[in-house]
Amino acid sequence: MDPNNVLRTPPSGAGGQVGIYIHIPFCKQACHYCDFHFSTTMGKKEEMVKALCKELELRKAEFLGEQVATIYFGGGTPSVLETEEIEQLITVVREYYDVVDNPEITLEANPDDLSEEKILQLVASPINRLSIGIQSFFEEDLKLMNRAHNALEAEKCLQLASEHFDNISIDLIYGMPNMTLDRWKQNIDKALGFGIPHISSYALTVEPKTALAKFVEDGLITPATDEETQEHFNVLNETLLSEGFDCYEISNFGKPGYYSQNNSAYWQQKKYIGVGPSAHSFDGVQRGWNINNNPKYIKSIAQNIVPMEVEVLSSTDKYNEYVMTGLRTIWGVSLSRISTEFGPKYKEYVLLQADKFIEEHLLFVDGDILKTTKKGMFLADGIAADLFMVNLK
Ligand code: SF4
Repeated sequence: MDPNNVLRTPPSGAGGQVGIYIHIPFCKQACHYCDFHFSTTMGKKEEMVKALCKELELRKAEFLGEQVATIYFGGGTPSVLETEEIEQLITVVREYYDVVDNPEITLEANPDDLSEEKILQLVASPINRLSIGIQSFFEEDLKLMNRAHNALEAEKCLQLASEHFDNISIDLIYGMPNMTLDRWKQNIDKALGFGIPHISSYALTVEPKTALAKFVEDGLITPATDEETQEHFNVLNETLLSEGFDCYEISNFGKPGYYSQNNSAYWQQKKYIGVGPSAHSFDGVQRGWNINNNPKYIKSIAQNIVPMEVEVLSSTDKYNEYVMTGLRTIWGVSLSRISTEFGPKYKEYVLLQADKFIEEHLLFVDGDILKTTKKGMFLADGIAADLFMVNLK
């Protein structure tokens, strides 16, 4: 067993309960690397909030008999909403759904929106967790990514937020072009200096049809190499583990008690309703995704129709998703669950496929659990792909 990768219990707030995700599809400007759904035109913000409230009402029957444990405002940039608009949406959730007494309510926020006034308003609201898109504390990185905030705002908002909020997560991006290892280390140290208990950190990826992809194509930017990216991850992992964080998912590091309940629930295949354009939903049987067009979304909701496409997952799809998400997390994959839920042939298959990775010390079996070693964690996606079931139904 890898002593750095101990089995911990998933956060209890996610146990047997459901989540609500609210997509706020507006951003002040387009970050060069981003392929999420958002509009930089705020003209329809009020109409959008109205439509989101309506979608929550239209879908209330989906969670009859279930308790909502987490509410998550993602985007886009949810912090462009007025605090009253955020509160209005939470009130609507409480009106139509059975919400647990102390739900985790997260707001994704960008530093340029987090003035002292806004932070004080949010502290007084039901929001109890902030996820702040810092990405980097360095001006050159922020400019390269076309972030709406500058380095000073990044530090100032964290100073203010940490005075008023206990449960804060920040996003940091590694593997950026021209980012030296030393600058990456400084980013991590700055985050630790603010006493932040949760860090989500992602490698910069060049997504098709983004400005970044065009810069790379035109030879204006050279992406970091895989080796550089892995080195950044290794430093991140080593540093945060030594500071008392757990790498509970490949991109998520939390101190005990500060894991994201919302995201942990996704990774454990819990049900969630996603409202808003481009939002995804999962009811245990099928996945759904809303139309990713703001005007069409608003128009459809006004006609009492949720503009959603759905796909019923086959056993193989569910198995593949379980392996993919499980191997990315500290909880790994339960062999008995695979056998019970999908059948003994799936368990035989996963163990057979895992063999070479076990020999290479990238995977190991701990009792009933198959999981990645510390070394294997960074390679989890590639390993999972080799464990996928393609032909058996
Ligand atoms: S703020 Fe977030 S959602 Fe908006 S463009 Fe930037 S990365 Fe994308």
